[in-house]
Amino acid sequence: MEKKAELVIKNATELLTCRDDSPDLIGLVKNGWVAADGGKIIAAGGAESVEPLISGSTQVIDASGKVVAPGFVDSHTHVVFGGGRVGEYFARIGKLSQEEIKRRGIKTGILTTLELTREHSLEELYDETALRVRDMIISGTTTVESKSGYGLDRDTELKQLEVNRLLEKRLPVSVVSTFLGGHGWPSDMDKGKYMDFLINEMIPFVGGSGLAEFCDAWCDEGYYTAQECGLILEAGIKSGMKPKLHEGGYSYIGGAEVAADLKAVSADHLNYDPRKSLRRLAEAGTVGAPLPGIDFAVRHERPFDPAPMIEEGLELAIATNCCPGCWCTSMPFIIILACRNHGMSSERAIRAATIGGAKALARQDSIGSIEPGKDADIQIWNLDRHEDIAYHYTTNPVETVIKGGRIAAANARK
Ligand SMILES: [Zn+2]
Repeated sequence: MEKKAELVIKNATELLTCRDDSPDLIGLVKNGWVAADGGKIIAAGGAESVEPLISGSTQVIDASGKVVAPGFVDSHTHVVFGGGRVGEYFARIGKLSQEEIKRRGIKTGILTTLELTREHSLEELYDETALRVRDMIISGTTTVESKSGYGLDRDTELKQLEVNRLLEKRLPVSVVSTFLGGHGWPSDMDKGKYMDFLINEMIPFVGGSGLAEFCDAWCDEGYYTAQECGLILEAGIKSGMKPKLHEGGYSYIGGAEVAADLKAVSADHLNYDPRKSLRRLAEAGTVGAPLPGIDFAVRHERPFDPAPMIEEGLELAIATNCCPGCWCTSMPFIIILACRNHGMSSERAIRAATIGGAKALARQDSIGSIEPGKDADIQIWNLDRHEDIAYHYTTNPVETVIKGGRIAAANARK
């Protein structure tokens, strides 16, 4: 007897499968149907392939007048942090001078967040982070990457990675954990000494703990050089962690070459990367992950330009980059920015927020699109055409979020 589905979504005005090989980038099916069972998608397409899978016990959701899409894959965040930096945000909006910021005692930068994150207990850090991750889930995110990097000491880095583990355990979301010990270095240690600690102690320890899947570093003027990033990422690879790299965000110092040489899974930011470096990334199969949220939050003087990336054949991912400098939990907002501020088409942005994000996390075999065999991570938008996700501002368009075949959020606006 043919297996019946536990869950069927029927009559979607638009089903966006976001299959990797879609010529239209989003795999649009009109009047689309999806069936899920055992947490996996078992059929997707027209009524003819799905309707026979309905039995008396199947939960059926009518999506007429709505868009059905894969859950968002938010592939770059620093969501685990203590406190916030609203004072710094308004100091920058008000264009306060460094002296004035100092005079008013406004705390700024990563080292401020480092202090607060170190001071938070594990449960305090979890509680603050879980509020943000819940906001992500109701905005359609079903997988979120989360980096450490606000401790830069052994205990706090491990505390951040432990929060990642708890988030996945307690909330209906997959959390992909990244060790970002190469985010900077503590003020009481010089860079060389910290790198020695990072490469010879922390990275082997974190790799062995199984608490992180990726190892990441920040390649930019004032942070780590391309050569230093190479050493950090190589140590990560040796300890079983796949490489990712922040590079080209505020200067270009050769990060893309290192990312390409090491076949990094993604290279993120890319504001200053020259075209030949973008080509190298594309040839290496590295995903380009430009970050519309941070360009907006800091009013970047050189917002990323997706056009040369697309022309060079780079697969793109877009992400919230949720952090104290860019308090964004909404992938729909990121899609709006990618289109309005950076000239992406809605199809390009939706792809970059789904299958593109999955590729930036090396999880394209299990998530990022709606096709048989993949996890049943699905969302329903209260919109009747996909372009509206980039056009209707401010109202959360996400009505229902399904994680592994189960309803994770239903904000139903009837
Ligand atoms: Zn980042």
